[in-house]
Amino acid sequence: MSPRFVRVALDHPLPTLFDYRCDERFAPAPGMLVAVPFGKRQVVGLVCEVTTDTDVPPERLRAVDDLCVACPPLSAHWLALVAFAADYYQRGLGEVALPALPQALRDASRWARLLAPDERYRLLPAGSIALPDAVPARATALRRLAAALGEAGTLSAAEARALHPKAIATLDAWCTEGWVALDVIEAGAGYSAPAELNALQRSGALGAMQEANTPTATNASTAANTPTAQLNTPSTLPTLTDEQATAVDAIREAEGFASFLLHGVTGSGKTEVYLRALADLLARRPDAQALVLVPEINLTPQFEAAFRARFAMLPDSAIVTLHSGLAEGERARNWLAAHTGRAHIVLGTRLAVLASLPKLALVVVDEEHDPAYKQQEGLRYSARDLAVWRAKQLDVPVVLGSATPSLESWWQADQGRYRRLTLSRRAVADAVLPSVRLIDLEEERRRGRASVEGLSGPLLAALRTRLERGEQSLVFLNRRGYAPVLSCDACGWVAGCPRCSAYVVLHKPERALRCHHCGWEARIPRACPDCGNVDIAPLGRGTQRVEETLATAVPGARVLRIDADSTRRKGSAQALFSDVHAGEVDILVGTQMIAKGHDFQRVSLVGVLNADTALFSHDFRASERLFAQLMQVSGRAGRAGLPGEVLVQTRYPRHALYHALARHDYVGFATSTLSERRDAQLPPFVYQALLRAEGRTLEAALAFLQQAAATLTEIPSAERVTVYDAVPMTIVKVMHVHRAQLLVESASRGALQATLHAWQPMLRALKGVLRWNLEVDPLDI
Ligand code: ADP
Ligand code: ZN
Ligand code: ZN
Repeated sequence: MSPRFVRVALDHPLPTLFDYRCDERFAPAPGMLVAVPFGKRQVVGLVCEVTTDTDVPPERLRAVDDLCVACPPLSAHWLALVAFAADYYQRGLGEVALPALPQALRDASRWARLLAPDERYRLLPAGSIALPDAVPARATALRRLAAALGEAGTLSAAEARALHPKAIATLDAWCTEGWVALDVIEAGAGYSAPAELNALQRSGALGAMQEANTPTATNASTAANTPTAQLNTPSTLPTLTDEQATAVDAIREAEGFASFLLHGVTGSGKTEVYLRALADLLARRPDAQALVLVPEINLTPQFEAAFRARFAMLPDSAIVTLHSGLAEGERARNWLAAHTGRAHIVLGTRLAVLASLPKLALVVVDEEHDPAYKQQEGLRYSARDLAVWRAKQLDVPVVLGSATPSLESWWQADQGRYRRLTLSRRAVADAVLPSVRLIDLEEERRRGRASVEGLSGPLLAALRTRLERGEQSLVFLNRRGYAPVLSCDACGWVAGCPRCSAYVVLHKPERALRCHHCGWEARIPRACPDCGNVDIAPLGRGTQRVEETLATAVPGARVLRIDADSTRRKGSAQALFSDVHAGEVDILVGTQMIAKGHDFQRVSLVGVLNADTALFSHDFRASERLFAQLMQVSGRAGRAGLPGEVLVQTRYPRHALYHALARHDYVGFATSTLSERRDAQLPPFVYQALLRAEGRTLEAALAFLQQAAATLTEIPSAERVTVYDAVPMTIVKVMHVHRAQLLVESASRGALQATLHAWQPMLRALKGVLRWNLEVDPLDI
């Protein structure tokens, strides 16, 4: 027998595969995981190739320690995805592939336990009838067990033991009675469509799809298996608006790859379109999988609840979430459910775009414009762009939804590459878009009108009116903390971070000064450290200060703040948002966390503070971002039929951006901004990449970039690439490290990519900096 070798991708910056010998014990195939020795450690790698020859001399060749057989191999599509991402974003294959896997799979010692079959006790109909009488009222622990089983339908052994120490013996006894069944779900096993789905489809519960459209529908053997939970019979589904119906039809009729840009104003019912598209898909192909991406972890519960309610007839494991807030074990389980095809709807944040989905047939990216889809460290990928790539590669439809599409996507639609679907009105009858009023702060001042701590008279009056009417208000400003600056009037001292070239932010509840760039913290000084003046004062306003002001300026109002500080504890954001939904809050103050996607039913007023700073940013995308944020936050007002109002405090009431906002005119804003971008030759009309360098001194970082720029002359394709001067970054120093960047761009994506590929090895040869990285399609410049 000829010797066998595997080429393995490892999580290592060298863009190469590593060869290992593989003995007869193992039958490796591409897409399988192996445990291999690397240096003095054992690491997990991904088999990319199985071959019979290698260039590595035999004495240096090491052997595979273990092969993970329980986990089905990753598909060719997934391997192609990570290979594409690695290539496009200029990283090593293993650096992309391995971090995309759940932690538990990357540790060979945990393979056995992770992939052990999952046993669950399931309540049978006979049990739900018999148990309430069979368990004596005094036996509280047993009653708890029975109740939990009744509520959840199934329990794992661990869950059961947590309720009652002798739970397993009891459950086994109930199995004998025929009240409970023990299901064994092979974690690594393939999976066929659940019987529930087939039954469901015949019952019509998935919504309005025609019989004719469901050729693969029936499987006679499951006819007896009628789902019990028919929560969504067609009659209880909302009647689609005409625009929604057109969108749903277009998605249903898509054959093969099609990119839809679902441009729907806030509250137009984009979620309902996604739900129908999912229902259509699962009705036609019960074994199919759909990937739904949302920009924020905080939005997953709202979507998950909507999906679970609509698809209540599916087993729990058919809908899973993937995001960084999950405990490691749960993330691994959910990832495996997706990988084995047991999960049909995978809902997640950007990292979910790298999930293994062997039956992927529909991709949805909600709020596709959101910058959160861009990963900002490590592999700096755009989840939206990769989502489109996956759909294209699999020849399936992708739906990009937004009230304010990114100009990149809008431009694709202008050129006919994406199909535009428009929802121009709110879905709920009577709900109209809010009226937007600009409050001219200069004029307020000239006329000597009273304001309290930066909150203008008209805004305060409007807040008080809402309180009287029992309606909710939302106050939005994109700055957390109490005040962005603490300074001394007498000598001009300003509290700065000793490690960064940045001011530190005053956090009043924590009585601390905190650097938002490196996390440095100090107590608030009693007096100016330079001159001893005790009158040091906070300058400017953050969410904490506005919260404090509102509590006194709007007497009787229950004020709640939601921002990164108030939601640091896991799960706390969820609790705070529930308070808002439950009506326990009158005024919600917060950062962009409150602006996105939430369907607040009782908010009728939105106040916007401090938006002006973004109007004059050096970043050409700042106005696009500001416009999207303001449209989003305005969209929280007046969703359920209450007339909504948006008040924007500004010094520039005549600015075109605010005028477009007041008219809800995304199209006008996009058209004029795109034409400016075209004149200035900015993205999407050119493609960009950023080389960033971090050095002990700014000179070192700049020198590295200048050398890097010089090497470009040796690359032929760089003729078509423009190289800008190396410049310090806006916050030059973070954690004592100095940072600078070099922008390169080209009208040809191909020329830029070819240049970056040729450049990488040259960059690796350069010395003098601590770190450098390349970012393709950067969002922040
Ligand atoms: P968007 O995501 O476009 O901002 P949502 O999907 O949150 O909007 O929908 C806004 C509200 O409209 C939700 O409360 C939703 O239940 C409701 N809705 C959606 N479609 C319909 C419809 N066809 N008829 C009635 N209400 C609808
Ligand atoms: Zn001083
Ligand atoms: Zn700092």
